[in-house]
Amino acid sequence: MAKNKNQAENPTSFTGLKTTKPAKEAAGLKAVNKSLKILAKEVGLIKGLSVLNQLNQKGGVDCPGCAWPDPDDERSKLGEYCENGVKAIAEEISSKSLDASFFAQHSVQELSNLTDYEIGKKGRIAQPMYLAENASHYEAISWDKAFEKIASKLSDLASPNEAIFYTSGRTSNEAAFLYQLFVRAYGTNNLPDCSNMCHESSGKALSQTLGIGKGSVTLHDFEKAEVILILGQNPGTNHPRMLNALQKAKRNGAIIITVNPLREAGLVAYNNPQELGTVLGSKTQLSDHYLQIRINSDMALIQAINIILSEHEKESPGHVFDQTFIDDKTEGFTAYLKHLESLSLDKLIDQTGIARGIIETIAQILASKKRIIACWAMGLTQHKNSVDTIKEVVNLLLLKGSIGKEGAGTCPVRGHSNVQGDRTMGIHEAPSDKLLDSIQEVFNFAPPRHHGFDVVNAIKAMHDHRAKVFFAMGGNFLSATPDTLYTAKALAACDLTVQVSTKLNRSHLIHGKEAIILPCLARTDKDVKQGVEQFVSVENSMGIVHSSKGNLPPISDALKSEVDIVCSLAQRCDLAVDIPWTDYANNYDLVRDKIEATIAGFDNYNDRVRQPAGFYLPNGARNNEYNTSSKKAQFSISFFEAIPLKGSEFLMMTIRSHDQFNTTIYGLDDRYRGIYNERRVIMMNPSDMKAANLNHMDVVDLYNYTGGQKRVAKNFMVVSYDIPSRCVATYFPEANVLVPISNVAKVSNTPASKSVVIEVKLA
Ligand code: SF4
Repeated sequence: MAKNKNQAENPTSFTGLKTTKPAKEAAGLKAVNKSLKILAKEVGLIKGLSVLNQLNQKGGVDCPGCAWPDPDDERSKLGEYCENGVKAIAEEISSKSLDASFFAQHSVQELSNLTDYEIGKKGRIAQPMYLAENASHYEAISWDKAFEKIASKLSDLASPNEAIFYTSGRTSNEAAFLYQLFVRAYGTNNLPDCSNMCHESSGKALSQTLGIGKGSVTLHDFEKAEVILILGQNPGTNHPRMLNALQKAKRNGAIIITVNPLREAGLVAYNNPQELGTVLGSKTQLSDHYLQIRINSDMALIQAINIILSEHEKESPGHVFDQTFIDDKTEGFTAYLKHLESLSLDKLIDQTGIARGIIETIAQILASKKRIIACWAMGLTQHKNSVDTIKEVVNLLLLKGSIGKEGAGTCPVRGHSNVQGDRTMGIHEAPSDKLLDSIQEVFNFAPPRHHGFDVVNAIKAMHDHRAKVFFAMGGNFLSATPDTLYTAKALAACDLTVQVSTKLNRSHLIHGKEAIILPCLARTDKDVKQGVEQFVSVENSMGIVHSSKGNLPPISDALKSEVDIVCSLAQRCDLAVDIPWTDYANNYDLVRDKIEATIAGFDNYNDRVRQPAGFYLPNGARNNEYNTSSKKAQFSISFFEAIPLKGSEFLMMTIRSHDQFNTTIYGLDDRYRGIYNERRVIMMNPSDMKAANLNHMDVVDLYNYTGGQKRVAKNFMVVSYDIPSRCVATYFPEANVLVPISNVAKVSNTPASKSVVIEVKLA
C-alpha cells in the first residue's frame, strides 16, 4: 500500500495550470452557465432539473452541501439552490454505478494512484464490497456476511474502546441518533465527528461565554443588521446562498466589514442570477471595508478594535458601550476593561498588517452601531488560538449589547448540511451527563460515562494500536484529516476499516488489514420501508429542524439507508440491551418519538417536522438567556501570541477551491481566484516570490518540520497572488500532508490547518 499512496501524493505530471486575474464578483450568468453544463455532462438536464426543482423546497430534499438555511417563508420558484448545490446534486445522482465487476477490473493499487478528483468521478457504489487481508481487489459480499464480519470483529476486541465510530456531517438526525445509541449500547463514547475538525472551536468558545455552542442569529436578523462582520469565511464558494442574505442586508443599509487574508470575489460583489439585472451584469457591492489581515491575526485585530472602542467610551460614556446590557446580562466586564488597558495597541495593530487608520475607521463605525452580526468559518476555527479568538469576537458583541436582539448576534456558518444536527443528536465523544442520564432513563441501560476520542485522538489511538476497528458513517476520513501519511499508517494499522458511503473516495483505498464498504442511500434517493416512503430530518446553521425526502429510484436495489445499516448491525452485535431496532428501521416516526423523549427541544417532533418550513430549536442566546453557571454572558481574557517565522518560513492556510466541497473535488478550476485546471498550487505574495527567487509557475516542494519530523508535499506550482506577505495558501486535501497531527487548537483540539509553518523550495 505504501507504494500507491506515494504516487498519488507526489504526482510527477500536472494538469495544465492557467491563471487569469481573479474575479471581482460572484455568481451571475457564469454560475448559471456552469451549473447547466455540469448537469448536462453528469446526469442530463431533464433528470438534473427534476431533482433541483425539489432542492431546498418545502417538503422537498435538503441540499447535501452546506448548512445555510432556507427562507422560512417564500422559497424561490426559480430555484432555491446555488451553483455548488447543483454540483453536489450532480455528483450524488450520477448514474455511474460501481458494482463487483468494476472492482474486479480495478485493483486498490491502481485506483489509489488516481487523484481525489479522478476517484470521486468514478461514481456511486452499487453493492457491499469486501477487501480481504493482503487482497489486491475488493470483492462482493452480502449484507448479512458484512454485518457478521463487523459484529464478530467488534466482539473480539478486548474493550469497546478499541473501536472508533466516526460521523460525517451528512448523516441525518434519525441515523445519527440511532448510531450514537448503538455505539453507547455497545459500550463506548468513541464518537469523533467532522465537527471536531471544523466548528469545535466555535462550540467551545460559545458554550463557555454564552451557554450554547450554536449561533444565535436567524436569517431575518440579516435584514435588520446595521453592521455585518465576516471573519475567515468565503461564502461565495462555501455558503453561496448567504450572498442573498448579504444583498438584502446591503439594500437595507447594512455595512459589511470583511476580514480575510484573501480578497474573495463572493465578498466583493454579488451578481444575483435570479434578478433580471444579471443579464445586464448589474451587481451588488458587498464589503464596504475589506481587511486583508495576516493569517491568524484576527484576535489582535478584534482586541485592537475593542481597545479603541473603550477609548471612545471613555470620551463619551454610554454612547459606545451598551452599559445596561453589560450590567444586566454579563459578567467579567471590569476585569476585561483592565485587561484591554494592559495591552499594547501599537503591537496588536502591527501584528495585523493593517494600517492604524483603517482599524480606527472600523472602530468608529462599530462605536455608533448596536445591531452587529459576526459571521465566521474555518478561517477563525482552525488555529491554535481559535477558541480565544472567537471569545474575543464575543467580547466585542457583549460590549455593544449585540446579542439576543433583532439584527444582532453570533453566526458561525456550518459547512456541512447536518453537522449541527448530528451533534444535537448526541454524536459527541464528550457527551453531557444530561444526555447520558436521559438515554439511561429512556432506554433503560447505563451508557458509558468515560469520554471517548475526538478525531485527532482517534487517529493517534489507531496509530498506536490502542484502537483496532474504524467505522465511518459517511465522509472521506483520510482526505479530511491532517498529517496524511501519519493518518494513513493509523488506518492501515487497524484490523478492520468500514466505510458507509455513497461514492468512491480515497478512504476506501487507504484501509485496515480487512476493509468493507457499505453503500447507502443518498439524500436524493427514495427510501421505502414496508411500502411506506420514509423521510429524514436535518438541522441547519440557525437551528431549524426540517424534513428531507428523496424522490429518485436508488441506483441499485442493494443499497440500504443509513438508519437501516445502523439497525441491522446493532441487531448482529450481542448488545446487553433490548432495543427494537427492526421497528426503528421500518418506521422513522418511532425514531423521532425516541428523540423527542431523549433530547430537549423536540416536543411533538413528528408533527412539527411535517410543518412546511420545519421548526426552530430553543436557543437561549437568541433570547438573552445564558445557560452558563452564573446565567450571565461571560467576558473573556485572552492573550495574543504571534506565530514566529524564521527567515525562509511562511504561514500556510489550506483552503477549498470553488470546484470543491470539503474533500469532494467537483472540478479542477477555482474560477473566482483565476486559477484553472490545476490543484497543486501555492498562492504566494509577489514580493515574497522575488525575495525567494521564485517565479510564477515555478515548481516547488513544500516542507514542514514540526516536532523535528520532515513532512513534504512535492510538485506544487507557484501562483503569484494578492495575499499578505509571509502568508501562503494551498488547497486541501493535497496539502494536508504538511499539517502535523500535533498542530491543534487549544481546548477544542481542532487541527490548525489554517496556520501551518512551511518552507518553499524549488523542486
Ligand atoms: S448554499 Fe449551501 S445548502 Fe444552499 S444550495 Fe448552496 S451548497 Fe446547498
